[in-house]
Amino acid sequence: MFAQVIIEYPLKSLDKTFIYHIPSFLEERLKEGMKVDVPFNNSKIGGFVLKIIKECPIHDYEIKDIIAICDQELILGKELLALASFLQEETLCSKITAIQTMLPSSLKVGLKKSNYNYYEKIIKLNNNIDLNKYIENNKRYSKQIEIINRLRIEKEILKKEINSSSLNTLIKNKIVIEEERQIYRINKDNIKIDDKVLTIDQDRVYKRIKECFNMAKTFLLYGVTASGKTEVYIKLIKDVISLNKKALVLVPEISLTTQIALRFYNTFGKDVAILHSSLSSGEKYDEYLKIIRDEVHVVVGTRSAVFAPLKDLGIIIIDEEDSSSYKQDNYPKYNAKDMAIFRSKYNLCPLVLASATPSLESKARADKGVYELLTLKNRVGKAKLPLIHIVSLKEEMEKKNMIFSDLLKNKIKEKLEKKEQIILLLNRRGFSTYINCSNCGYTYKCPNCEITLTYHISSNNLICHYCGYKISKASICPNCQENSLNYYGLGTEKLEIEIKKLFPLARVIRMDQDVTSKKGSHEKIINDFKNYKYDILLGTQMVSKGLDFPLVSLVGVINADTTLNLPDFRSNELTFALLHQVSGRAGRSNLEGEVVIQTFNPHNFVMECVKDNNYDLFYLKEMQIRRKLAYPPYYYLIGIKIISKEYNIALEEAQKVKLYLDQHLEKTTLVLGPTMASILKFKNEYRFQIIIKYKYDKYLKQVLKELDNIYIYNKNCYLDIDINPLHI
Ligand code: ADP
Ligand code: ZN
Repeated sequence: MFAQVIIEYPLKSLDKTFIYHIPSFLEERLKEGMKVDVPFNNSKIGGFVLKIIKECPIHDYEIKDIIAICDQELILGKELLALASFLQEETLCSKITAIQTMLPSSLKVGLKKSNYNYYEKIIKLNNNIDLNKYIENNKRYSKQIEIINRLRIEKEILKKEINSSSLNTLIKNKIVIEEERQIYRINKDNIKIDDKVLTIDQDRVYKRIKECFNMAKTFLLYGVTASGKTEVYIKLIKDVISLNKKALVLVPEISLTTQIALRFYNTFGKDVAILHSSLSSGEKYDEYLKIIRDEVHVVVGTRSAVFAPLKDLGIIIIDEEDSSSYKQDNYPKYNAKDMAIFRSKYNLCPLVLASATPSLESKARADKGVYELLTLKNRVGKAKLPLIHIVSLKEEMEKKNMIFSDLLKNKIKEKLEKKEQIILLLNRRGFSTYINCSNCGYTYKCPNCEITLTYHISSNNLICHYCGYKISKASICPNCQENSLNYYGLGTEKLEIEIKKLFPLARVIRMDQDVTSKKGSHEKIINDFKNYKYDILLGTQMVSKGLDFPLVSLVGVINADTTLNLPDFRSNELTFALLHQVSGRAGRSNLEGEVVIQTFNPHNFVMECVKDNNYDLFYLKEMQIRRKLAYPPYYYLIGIKIISKEYNIALEEAQKVKLYLDQHLEKTTLVLGPTMASILKFKNEYRFQIIIKYKYDKYLKQVLKELDNIYIYNKNCYLDIDINPLHI
């Protein structure tokens, strides 16, 4: 027997399978989709068995034996192998990259599995001993009797929970035996909560999806904030579990996972595995094992959880489907929504895309009938959508209100007095956005990316928000040595200082990337705020989505223009979603919610639609713009970056790429550029960009593949091809 093996060598030029012989001692155990060790170029390397074959095909290299199976439990099933091929097709990545993208990093190259299995000693009663006799003879040792009685009820206990001299005596006397057991690092119990009775609206949505349990159908669930979408998911998942099928729930970032995960744990307890980036490698490994071992019915996770090896999916839910976090920014640039559609078809199960602000693509597909549209128009119970005030920053500046408008100040004061809570959004972290010398005009810039550095006061560092480059700030200008450095622009760090100055008695907590890098810090902020240890939560877009705090009655947006001014065709959509979502944090219970949005563009249609909570109008107007400018959803996009350490090489190659595309693509396809990428220099490389806009082009994928192949062997320049990019 032979095996076609794809080896763990990320070079695209090695993107093909090799034939290995299966030695007889492995024949019984080896299965397609298993990870193996094989000899390659005189060393040992990992690989995956894609296919087992009887006859050895014609070959021009020496056939060697597979050395060993790496992990008997780890098998990429048929579905995941098919998904890997799909991922490869969709993103033009290599097969091994596709496979590795699907696995948690703890299972990748060179890492030994044994490092991750976590064992603990457990204790239990020795069944081969006459317990009653022992108790009779040792009555006076009450501590020992206590342990015995506890073990009689609980059967098994972690040794470290007891660890006493009495226990050691019991072990010595062979009454209690100890054993090593693999323990999962995360172990949550469900708590009994009363089932909520679905509202009529919720029930309609729930029933419709349930009718389609055995169909590969995509729904767009358009439900306003706090319309009870999560409650509908939970009800559906209960039904899926009762059919002994599995449920996959994707959520955007950790900000969401914490609160949503808790609701799933509360309902499903140990039946849930959770996968997101802030778990430790060991935790991720454990959660993955639970899934492979078929021990859970529900997986909740961020983007890459779409590859969770659940067998027999009964439903897939993508919450906040418009979030850009479902698209991976780096190679391979896949979109989890496409992967989910593939899995929905493979498993014949429904896919639910849900949001209060659906992406234009999804809404357009629903309008065309490709997806089925389901709506939840009202908030649950008495809660109403908040009242929104738009404030002109220009007028406030004239009154010398540099950060807080009079209205926002007054509202904060009012809510503090009423003992209600406040969320403030400022979509920029750090202290000031740039530092400038008033004597010589010097500004601190990143030497790798040539963008201005952001000042962070807590560390006294200037940081590049693109590549992470860092230097400490000098007290005088590094260029002219004068004491004339000035701070411009406002970040969350400074906002925190300013709000404390204005309301010295208010309890303020900040949430942004700088304060949440430590594990668990994120949950702590959310829990403390929920438990009313703070009056004001301020932060970047982390505070905008998915959070459910009943006491929040005011949301303030310090500067709504940060996303509006992005050089990106999606900037209106992003702005509307951000403002609408953050507004949705106010007034989720019986408190009336109010929102104050400060902007230099009060009459922009985006602001007007936000003010009226009018997604439908926003959608109509933005669709007209997209049509006029030939952007998605009217056209598909492909972004190609041509990247080199040398400016001239990047430019020349970009011109060649353009020529190549013009010659090979259909005449109706638009090839724009080359232009400088929006960040021309990034990590010391220069980037030019070509954009392809098309509706239908049957040669396209093939042409892109060939183009990609040409550059695989170029040492001075490489391509970054992004199919359906979210921004360009
Ligand atoms: P969404 O996911 O649409 O933002 P949630 O599911 O978080 O909405 O619901 C908002 C709030 O309403 C939550 O606190 C939730 O517990 C509550 N809720 C949802 N459905 C019901 C129901 N049928 N009866 C009572 N309360 C509900
Ligand atoms: Zn940089």
